[in-house]
Amino acid sequence: MASPYRLALHWHRRDLRILDNTALHHAAAGAEAVVPVYLLSNWRKEHLWTGEKRQAFLCRCLKSLGANLETIGGRLVIRCGRAATELEKLAKETGADAIFYNRDPDPFGGAAEKEVEAMALRLGIACYGHDDVALHTPEEILTQDGKPYRVYTPYSKNWLSQEKPQPLPKPRSLNTPPGISSLPLPDNAHWGWAESEADLIEAGERAAHQRLKTALASRLGNYGETRDFPAVPGTSRLSQDLRFGLLSPRTIYAKSAAALGETLSTPARSGIEKYIKELAWREFYLAILWHFPNVLEEEFNPDWRGLGWAEPDGKFEAWKQGLTGFPIVDAGMRELLATGFMHNRVRMISAMFLTKDLHIDWRLGEHHFMQHLLDGEIASNNGGWQWSAGTGADAAPYFRIQNPWTQAKRYDPDGTYMKRWLPELAKVPVDALFAPPKDGHPLAPGYPLPCVDHATERDRTLAIFKKHRQR
Ligand SMILES: Cc1cc2nc3c(=O)[nH]c(=O)nc-3n(C[C@H](O)[C@H](O)[C@H](O)COP(=O)(O)OP(=O)(O)OC[C@H]3O[C@@H](n4cnc5c(N)ncnc54)[C@H](O)[C@@H]3O)c2cc1C
Repeated sequence: MASPYRLALHWHRRDLRILDNTALHHAAAGAEAVVPVYLLSNWRKEHLWTGEKRQAFLCRCLKSLGANLETIGGRLVIRCGRAATELEKLAKETGADAIFYNRDPDPFGGAAEKEVEAMALRLGIACYGHDDVALHTPEEILTQDGKPYRVYTPYSKNWLSQEKPQPLPKPRSLNTPPGISSLPLPDNAHWGWAESEADLIEAGERAAHQRLKTALASRLGNYGETRDFPAVPGTSRLSQDLRFGLLSPRTIYAKSAAALGETLSTPARSGIEKYIKELAWREFYLAILWHFPNVLEEEFNPDWRGLGWAEPDGKFEAWKQGLTGFPIVDAGMRELLATGFMHNRVRMISAMFLTKDLHIDWRLGEHHFMQHLLDGEIASNNGGWQWSAGTGADAAPYFRIQNPWTQAKRYDPDGTYMKRWLPELAKVPVDALFAPPKDGHPLAPGYPLPCVDHATERDRTLAIFKKHRQR
């Protein structure tokens, strides 16, 4: 059958892969030739929502995407600037009669899509947005009254009960025509930054598939027991792959479900089931941001809007650098600086420490994480921060304040994780990592004393929240 379109643009966004890519699949099936294009942003130097590590990872993913596209007769075209303007130029240059893209569910992505749709209408060319970022769109998982869920458990029950979309086959040849001009593959200099010196996880689609394989072969069966222990490689490590679309959620789900079907042991089955429920957390937060975009500005729970947060001071800087004197918090913050990743349990401890021990506004922590995390995802990050601050959808109640000392003892009982990221504490007896130093001396030369007393700050937080409630 003849393809309906002569030449289609495929606008790569957070889908830096060729396998199981909805819009690319439809572009390849629907057009004689496809021009895959990635549009670089054109801000310089400062950005509240990203940083050197994530941009460096993006550059490496683009390099890998370019090579992968060549294996199916494609050639990645790189341009820079506003989506509607650049796609219009490229459509005119190439005579494209269609544009395909995968929708980005965050408000910024949605705004760019509206402009692109309007431009395509004006030029009289077809424009197709596909759902690809999640297994279910926010509109698919609603209460019986057709309203968005505000609580995770009923959301996840509904999410789990719905049939899941299947992975799509690899596209046939893309036949990208020669001679279309492209910027070179970028590096961090494009944004006016130095190359990242951090120890980043391997980028690209192939590395992501390898991680999925490892997770299925040796991690997810024990996920229920190991996922909370940061010293153990017990989680999938796929969050940056979902963030950049190196893997599709369909592929992850289908392979996890297949592993579940082949697994007989009850603990291993419950590990995989637990893992699948984590994918639902991701989609819960995507849905919260979709239905309640105001969470980017204010507390999800109106009860806590206008809380009096402390002015950021030297303690905020100490938190960012991993120098608070609380080893579990500092280890997490140093892991973040060194690798662009932090284990989920430690993200919770460190976020709760900033908001409940230092009384600093969760929005400042949210930005810091976005500037350092490879997996920095607006929806999940906002959800995680508002959960920890006690202000979010289905958040930890404000009075349930984790004690960083007891959390350290519970989740890093032999101190392996803390000593890994705080080499100055390598020789400190492990019990000393679970309580403030009694003799008033630092744990090691150069390592600070705890910057606050947890019990005092806990009481202060309770008083602040109670007073706010009684206004
Ligand atoms: C303060 C805070 C900030 C966070 N910021 C982000 C962020 O920017 N991007 C991000 O992807 N995750 C974020 N998370 C959630 C979680 O920490 C990471 O998804 C997880 O650590 C990634 O490691 P993994 O892939 O090995 O996870 P696994 O334990 O293997 O989980 C599997 C997948 O489920 C999803 N997931 C797991 N837990 C959560 C959760 N609590 N919320 C949403 N999705 C989840 C992720 O996509 C993850 O890859 C944040 C959590 C907190 C407490």
